[in-house]
Amino acid sequence: MTVSSHLARPLVDSFGRVHRDLRISLTDVCNLRCTYCMPAEGVPWLARENILATEELVRVAEVAAALGIVEVRLTGGEPLLRRDAVDVVRQMAAIEGEDGPLEVSMTTNALRLVKLAGPLAEAGLARVNISLDTIRAERFAELTRRDRLQDVLDGIDAAIEAGFAPIKLNAVAMRDVNDDELVDLVRFAVDKGCEIRFIEQMPLDAGHIWSRVKMVTGEEILAQLGEAFELTPVGERGAAPAEQFRIDGGPSTVGVIRSVSKPFCGACDRVRITADGQLRNCLFAREESDLLSVLRADGSDDDLAEMMHTCIAGKLPGHGINDPGFLQPDRPMSAIGG
Ligand code: SAM
Ligand code: SF4
Repeated sequence: MTVSSHLARPLVDSFGRVHRDLRISLTDVCNLRCTYCMPAEGVPWLARENILATEELVRVAEVAAALGIVEVRLTGGEPLLRRDAVDVVRQMAAIEGEDGPLEVSMTTNALRLVKLAGPLAEAGLARVNISLDTIRAERFAELTRRDRLQDVLDGIDAAIEAGFAPIKLNAVAMRDVNDDELVDLVRFAVDKGCEIRFIEQMPLDAGHIWSRVKMVTGEEILAQLGEAFELTPVGERGAAPAEQFRIDGGPSTVGVIRSVSKPFCGACDRVRITADGQLRNCLFAREESDLLSVLRADGSDDDLAEMMHTCIAGKLPGHGINDPGFLQPDRPMSAIGG
């Protein structure tokens, strides 16, 4: 890998934000159909021949590491549906960034963790975030359109057993769907020694069913939790999306991610690559930079680095969800990589 010295500099946008966190989608396919993400019939999948091969993924990550990326989060779709997911982790975790090897983490629905948690830990996966919106089996089946809560719970136990810590549980709070269960979810997480974070629902679903009224705001979440627990804010969040609160004096914490009602774009240090090799400077970006074409046309590492710099330079100050002219991105969350 050779990036020329004039390009081997940090990915800084025109607002001075330095990008250090790369989200890579390993696949757009999924074994669940969460209502806030996909319609029941799924979405038109990306063309298989356009999905980045492992050596292409690794090459892109190596170039990104030369430009100051220090953390890689693997996501999807469901990243563990990619057959060589463990191998991707192993190769990514061996890439040297400026602070040492890249820190590789993953966001997963946990369905395949019973089988893969051990091998992933052994391959060098540093951290795992697991999506869990409900712990009621019937509700889980309705919400994800698959009757598989037990597999997720077993997956969480497998991740604990494999030694991942802290394990973060992500729950999207939804009105009249799971907003009567927030306290139970916190208690579940505390019992398991996991950290739970509640996420405001964002307009990223393929079915375009998001509505501001249905969204449960961070303020509502905190008010509800505040009735059951004593919540104390913990420190500054820096570039992290979650505001943290200590529960009943600690040590357990709960996080709230107010992407819509209290955007944190000003501190954003994230950039994304879709499974088909498109670089996006924001979840809500309406433009993409085509790394796939550069890779497949035998482009150089400098060509890739230049495209990354140009993409970041054009990043907007914020996602604009609250602007009157806001347009949802064409790709759904599952095809961007959440
Ligand atoms: N399949 C994996 C999973 O569910 O963890 C990884 C991909 S999923 C797209 C990543 C995260 O995005 C999940 O935590 C999911 O809850 C969240 N997500 C999906 N659609 C969302 C939406 N419309 N608003 C907020 N979060 C969303
Ligand atoms: Fe699949 Fe994750 Fe989307 Fe649910 S949120 S449908 S698990 S990609």
